[in-house]
Amino acid sequence: MKMLEEKILAEGKAMGEDILKVDSFVNHQVDPVLMQQIGTAFADHFKDKGVTKVVTIESSGIAPALMTALALNVPMVILKKQPSKVLNDDLYQTVVTSFTKGTSYELTLSQKFINESDHVLIIDDFLANGEAATGAIRLIRLAHATVAGVGILIEKSFQPGRQKLNDQGFEVYSLARVAKLEKDFISFIPEDSDDN
Ligand code: 5GP
Repeated sequence: MKMLEEKILAEGKAMGEDILKVDSFVNHQVDPVLMQQIGTAFADHFKDKGVTKVVTIESSGIAPALMTALALNVPMVILKKQPSKVLNDDLYQTVVTSFTKGTSYELTLSQKFINESDHVLIIDDFLANGEAATGAIRLIRLAHATVAGVGILIEKSFQPGRQKLNDQGFEVYSLARVAKLEKDFISFIPEDSDDN
């Protein structure tokens, strides 16, 4: 998506060769016009997949997921990063390893909001090792729902997340695919590449 790539080139900052900082338009300050365009792009791509809910992981996925849900006219559900509640049996929970922080967190879904009749589109800001998306998929499976696909704003294609998800049979659609990250240099995989 041209608008997102241009924004990354103008305002994104490579923190070494692994981490891209986009806190002026995604992670801290949020660009609403960009988010609306992103929502339209995801909705357009997944419109014929029978999506009943859009699921995201708090907090940076919420803005693009909400815009996608609005464009698809379905609810959005936020998977919460919440510690275990031993006596609460109406939650699905799973442990996810955080790529940026190198720590683990518990991802939680209330049983009320996803069930076996749901076909879920997962939206997240970044795809690195695929841990967050795989954790989301585990929760969706615990709820006996199915996965329509995974929509990502910024895929770091030099990391194994896409491959991992594709190997499990899930479609990954990324709006910007970073091929290489260096200080003062960011390159993308062309949009018309046939594996997106
Ligand atoms: P994964 O679970 O695929 O290894 O990593 C994805 C999650 O880690 C995303 O939800 C995102 O919050 C965070 N993340 C991974 N790589 C980056 C990055 O380069 N920049 C930022 N800001 N977050 C990242």
